[in-house]
Amino acid sequence: SPHGAPPGASAPIALSYELFPPLNATASASLWGTIRELEATNPDYVSVTYGANGSNRDTAVELLNRLLTESTLRPLAHLTCVGHTADELAGIISELLDHGVRGILALRGDLPQDPADGPRPGSLRYAQDLIELIRSVEQQRSALLCAGRVAIGVAAYPAKHPESPSIEHDVEVLLAKQRSGADFAITQVFFHADQYRELVVRARRAGVTIPVIPGVMPLTSLRRVRRLGELTGVEPAPALLDALRRAADPADGRRIGVSATVDLARAALDAGAPGIHLYTFNEHGAALDVLDKLQLPRPARPAPLRRTAIPELVQA
Ligand code: FAD
Repeated sequence: SPHGAPPGASAPIALSYELFPPLNATASASLWGTIRELEATNPDYVSVTYGANGSNRDTAVELLNRLLTESTLRPLAHLTCVGHTADELAGIISELLDHGVRGILALRGDLPQDPADGPRPGSLRYAQDLIELIRSVEQQRSALLCAGRVAIGVAAYPAKHPESPSIEHDVEVLLAKQRSGADFAITQVFFHADQYRELVVRARRAGVTIPVIPGVMPLTSLRRVRRLGELTGVEPAPALLDALRRAADPADGRRIGVSATVDLARAALDAGAPGIHLYTFNEHGAALDVLDKLQLPRPARPAPLRRTAIPELVQA
């Protein structure tokens, strides 16, 4: 198999994908096609995004639930705290734990567009506050969590967080998140491997020991690149923009996007990245192309549990 290197060949590289909750039934059906394809690559987990201010809370919880009950995938639930009070968030965290979620990506979320909307009184301010809240809910519910603690991920920014005064400040924030209980970080998209390498070097020097997983996004069309710029404030590489502008057709765009992503991921791995997190846009095509070309050393896939066997066991 292209994804299963022989054991001991080299250190296994972690693999994860990002999905977003589908907006309607058609999108859901197509997402489940994608989920089955991704499942076959035996990732460590799939992450499920959370709309700003919990706008898609119900669909996010529904997708997490279905992943836990209808797939072999382990979900990582994104959760944002800005605009929510500690009580509201504690309720959501408990709900996630009750459903069986054991990994949370603790995020602040984007600030409201209109500053007049202002911070709600009593709402949390930083991702760090959310990490501390998750650890305290976990403490209260330790009987439920007898199999171990919740894995908490956080965001990191190779191209600097747009509101942050400097990379140095970002590194301080990452260290603060580690001290509050973060177990690993996933990066925002970036287009220059040097930025990833630099962030990790600075972070290690400052005392950050948690893994920093590069988040890479196959950008296969100009539309997608523009949308990404709007959402993240990260400037796409001019060479990639030019190449996509010249793309003859969508298949050519996909080839260009995949090739740029493979180069970036390889460079990040060469810089010591312990894994790759692939932003999928709920489509498996480009993500699997990237994976095929990367040939990551991955643990062999365990023998599949026959899905049909589960209901029989339950009935017995
Ligand atoms: P924080 O770590 O709280 O940082 C926010 C800002 O505050 C930064 O400028 C930081 O420098 C500053 N800061 C933080 N702590 C302190 C402190 N103690 N003192 C002083 N300054 C501080 N958004 C969504 O809405 N839904 C998602 O599902 C989602 N998924 C994401 C997944 C990944 C991998 C990444 C990288 C981002 C994701 N985002 C998502 C976007 C994220 O919410 C935004 O980037 C947001 O602007 C910052 O979130 P954060 O968790 O990094 O915030």
